[in-house]
Amino acid sequence: MELPQIVIIGDGSFNRDNISNIFKLKSRGLIITGPHVLKKFGGEIESALSDFSYDTVIVNEPTYEEAERVLAQVGAANHLFVIGIGGGKTLDIAKYVGFKLGRPVLSVPTNASNDGIASPFSSLRGGKYPYSLKVKPPLGVVADVSIIMQAPEGQINSGLGDLIGKITSVRDWHLAWKEKGEYYGGYASKLALESARHALASAEGIGSLKLDSVRNLLEALISAGVAGGIAGSSRPLSGSEHLITHALDVLAPGQGMHGEKVGVSTVFTSYLYGLNWGKIKSSLNKAGLPVSYKELGIDRKTAVKAITMAPTLRPERYTILHKMGLSESKINEMLDRLEI
Ligand SMILES: [Zn+2]
Repeated sequence: MELPQIVIIGDGSFNRDNISNIFKLKSRGLIITGPHVLKKFGGEIESALSDFSYDTVIVNEPTYEEAERVLAQVGAANHLFVIGIGGGKTLDIAKYVGFKLGRPVLSVPTNASNDGIASPFSSLRGGKYPYSLKVKPPLGVVADVSIIMQAPEGQINSGLGDLIGKITSVRDWHLAWKEKGEYYGGYASKLALESARHALASAEGIGSLKLDSVRNLLEALISAGVAGGIAGSSRPLSGSEHLITHALDVLAPGQGMHGEKVGVSTVFTSYLYGLNWGKIKSSLNKAGLPVSYKELGIDRKTAVKAITMAPTLRPERYTILHKMGLSESKINEMLDRLEI
């Protein structure tokens, strides 16, 4: 198991005392952040890191190319730690760069849009595969609620969609164990599912961006990431609903947020498992998330194509989609019935 050692969630937690307690050696660090975050929180960053000397690198795109550019840019500067400050994309690059440099990473999320905050995975585009790569979990997570509450609305509530996905990802994992003899970790699976339940109980509050509810969402996203660290694979976090999402990333790039796509796709995959898909749909609705592909700006033809393509993206990762081998007409019929 590889897990973060320090997790601090709280109002104003991104501060000098906390950062100086985490990195006791006052060595030179590397800050990876995005242009908007630096503009908005430059003062907070400077103050939290006032005990350290550091270099700042700005990243724009969550691609391998961008991550490699950072590595080339920092070269032999010998930074002893990496701090990623930003949304999921920035944190994915920070985790990748820290992994390549063999340095500990501190994750400072500025939104609550996905479960990458504490997970040992990095999801970068432009590589060989459209899904995440196993790196190391961050050494620590400092989730400052007062910073996260300033994120655009869609970057807060969409994390709930990513968590809802665990309802079918853990079932896909169990199915792969039962039918293909794959390793299955009961505890990691329960933790991932419990994270989803924890956040789902606050769906309405998350929709109206209530402070306590957003805090629950953050705890759930972090503990789901920890479930991935316990499993040593993304199996508890990502199943058939994520395969559909990855296919949509390829077929309709830039359309909808990750968690929004996962949420709608879970309505479909939960139906395949005979689960209460209506309840999932109403939770999405309560949280102010899209409840259909159409609402995401994805037309029916593309949705059908994505669901057909999904199992081919990872033939080795057995899920309900691989088992059922659905035809286009069957998928169409189901999408009609689910009204998604
Ligand atoms: Zn996800």
